[in-house]
This record gives sequence, C-alpha cells and structure tokens, in this order.
Amino acid sequence: MQQQIKELEQQARQLETSAKERSAMFEKAQDYGEDFLETLSEQSAYVDSNSMGKGVYELPFDENPREFEELLKVLQLEVDKPGLNPASGKHAGYIPGGGLYPSAIADYLAAVTNRYTGVFFSSPGAVRIENMCIRWMNDLVGYPDGAAGNLTSGGSLANLIALVIARDNSGIKAKDFERTVIYTTQQVHHCVIKAIKFAGLREATIRTIPMDDRFRMKAKALEEQIKVDKSDGLIPLTIFASAGTTDLGAVDPLNDIGNIADQHNLWFHVDAAYGGFFLLTKHGKEMMAGIEKSDSATIDPHKGLFLPYGSGALLVKDGQKLYDSQHMTANYLQDTLKATEEASPADLSPELSKHFRGLRMWLPLQLFGVQPFRAALDEKLLLTRYFYNKIQQIDGIEVGPKPELSVAFFRYVPDSDDANKFNKKLVNEIHRDGRVFLSSTHINGTVFLRAAVLNFRTHLTEIELILSVLREKIQKLAAN
Ligand SMILES: *Cc1c(COP(=O)(O)O)cnc(C)c1O
Repeated sequence: MQQQIKELEQQARQLETSAKERSAMFEKAQDYGEDFLETLSEQSAYVDSNSMGKGVYELPFDENPREFEELLKVLQLEVDKPGLNPASGKHAGYIPGGGLYPSAIADYLAAVTNRYTGVFFSSPGAVRIENMCIRWMNDLVGYPDGAAGNLTSGGSLANLIALVIARDNSGIKAKDFERTVIYTTQQVHHCVIKAIKFAGLREATIRTIPMDDRFRMKAKALEEQIKVDKSDGLIPLTIFASAGTTDLGAVDPLNDIGNIADQHNLWFHVDAAYGGFFLLTKHGKEMMAGIEKSDSATIDPHKGLFLPYGSGALLVKDGQKLYDSQHMTANYLQDTLKATEEASPADLSPELSKHFRGLRMWLPLQLFGVQPFRAALDEKLLLTRYFYNKIQQIDGIEVGPKPELSVAFFRYVPDSDDANKFNKKLVNEIHRDGRVFLSSTHINGTVFLRAAVLNFRTHLTEIELILSVLREKIQKLAAN
C-alpha cells in the first residue's frame, strides 16, 4: 500500500507548483494583464463577432496538461475579444463599473492564502476586514451601531436576503402568502421580482405604485394603497424602493417612504445597488436623503466603487434581524462558536464557504484613500449632465428628464421613419461599430437609448467620443 501511495503522491504533487513554475506563470500573467491594460484605450468597447468565442471548445479538458501560453492565447482571442468590454471607459451601457487594479491584486492574494472567511474563529483578521467594509458602508448610509451586513456576490443576492429577512421578521406563514403585499414601482430591478419567487412569495401581490414624471414612486399613492390593502384584510409586508433605478437612475422619495413605512410598520428596503456610492458626494447625499430611515439597503461595490464583478453588499439597520433570519448551527461547526467578538459572515448569509471578498474592497480604499473615489463620482455626475446638455444640440434628439444621478436617456425622433424602429437601428449600429457601447431600454412602449456613466475610466474624452459616434450614426441612418 505504501508503494501505491507513493506513486500516487508523485502524480498528485504536480498540483503543488514550484517557485520556479510560479514565477514563470506569474510573469506571463502579468504580461498578459499589462498588455490588456496598456492597450485598453484603443480597444473596442464592444466586439460583434460571428464565432462568439466558440474557440474555447477546441481545448476540451484532457488527462494531460497544456501549456499556459496556449491557454492565454485562447483567453485573448476567444474570451477577451468577443462581446462587451466592461473594463473600457467607452462602455456606458447597462451599469458599468470598471474593475480596479488593486482589487485584482487583492483577489490574487486572497486566493493564494485562501483564508476562510465564513467564520470569525477560522480567520479573525479577514473577518474583521470584511466587517470593517460593512461598517464603513453602514456609516455611509447612516445606520446606527448595531447595524450589520454581508458582502454578497452582487445586488441580486443582497435583495434576495433582504426580502427573506422582511418575510421572516414579519412572522407571516405560508398560508398568509396569498394575502401578502409587496410595494414597489414598475422601474424596480427585475432581480427583485426573481427574489420574490425565490423567497417562496410567488403568490404574493406585487403593487407597482404609480410614478411621477421623473419615474419616482408617488409617496401619496403608496400610502393610499397601503390603507386600501389593510382595510381589505391584506398583509402589507415590505416596500422595495430604488435609489437610482437601473434604467433611468431615478431615486424614489426615500424620506416620505420611510415615514410611511414607519407609520404602517412595513419593512423598508432601499435598492441602492447602482446609486448607493453617490452617498460619498454632496449631490448624492441630497438625492438620497432619508435612506437612513430604511431597514435594509443593497449597495454594489462592483458598480459605484468600481470593483471587479462579484461584489455586492446587503446592509441591515438592526443586525440582530439579519442574524435571526440567516443563522443556523451545525454539529461539525461547534468549535467555531467560542469566538464571538465579531459577527461571522456565514451567520448573516446563505453562503458558508466563500471567497474573501472584503480584501478587494479594503485594499483599494486603503491604497487610494476615499478622496479619489469621491472625486470620480462627482466627475461622473458632471459628465452625465454635460452629456445631457450636449446631446440636445443634435437636431431631432429628445431627452428624458434631467438626470438625477449618472444615467441620461434620450432618443432620436426621425421626420418620417418609425421612431422605435429608428432607435433600435441606432443602437444596433453603435454595437456593430463597437468604438463605444450604449444600451437601450423601453419605457411604456417607447424605445430610448441610455448613457450610464459610471466606469472609473470614463472621462471627458470618452464622453466626447460617445457624442461624436452618436452624431455620425444618426446622420448616417437619417440619410438612408
Ligand atoms: C445592478 C442592479 C441590481 C442587480 O445587482 P447585481 O450586482 O447585478 O446582481 C439590482 N438593483 C439595481 C438597482 C441595480 O442597478
């Protein structure tokens, strides 16, 4: 048996790279990263390709090893070419973010050391770092001591956990779900509707409260609806407001909604996945006044803090409620229970083993300090207003309301052609061109293009390029 073990060891040890192998590999990876970053400003924001990365299938997993170079080539041609380039400052579609370099280094370090951040006992320092990030965000939102939170993979998971706490905290049972009511607007992110399904609340009623002409929830209409529902014997459960809708960047009147939630004893959640970090700016603070009245909030560091994808956060004013909803013990975890100075992430989320997500947020905040983030966010707000003013100088352009945060929406109204058809053609034309990336949406059946300015690499030059591509494409299409 010893002989057999030794033979297997020999083979298994291939997984333990040597110092020489590691530094060779690291060097190649670094060259790859540098080549990517150094050419980023010349790269397309979108590559419309026929093969759509199919080449990755040409290297199926095999019993035998492959060369790193060969794999990097595949990465370069089949992965980092086709489709959207979210690292590009010329990407102003959906909600961009970018991906800060120190976060990549943090991910590398976190993966190399592989600290286990599920429980405080196993990696106290790492858990302190995560909780520090959460405390900083709780302060930003204006939550008191006793608040808690969790670093999630993104806003969708944060919204799901928030809904589950609201459900658990209310004490409703499955038999009540049919009478349960959730209040939001038609502009809420679709992941909230998914979350309602995942939380078992498929049968609940979703009330989309009317919006004003700037697509913000009408607080008065909300209150009236809650009263009607109560008198009809329904169970108002939670209000899901938005602080920066994804489509249009609209901020619901959080202060008024907070008062209504308080008066009627509803769980008040603010989805600030996109808009939350504008709280670092004076303008954002004013726009989101009242957010501190919420019971919970979602905020996405991979949007407004420019982290790479995979970083969302749920913040909860009364941390105990998060714990009550999410914690569970297991026999094999009994040794971990003695370390209680800091909350353990696994007690505050459905996840157990997870990536050490806090490091990718902690490192850039420490290395740069907060000030450049604040400046970048203020810059994006101004760039959006600049874009909004400039785009109106193109003949035939119709704009939406003045942007509240960093999303501007607009469309071209042609003389003869159908406007929706024209704007769909326009966005397709922009995608085919690829120099810049914008996405479109539709509001009450009308197609609009959006410019969402949130990549940290988007500056005046990129905005001018977006404007000039738009001018060019509109001229071309209008001439046809
Ligand atoms: C992006 C976004 C989400 C979803 O977050 P993910 O991080 O993509 O899971 C939810 N709500 C709003 C308002 C968003 O902008």
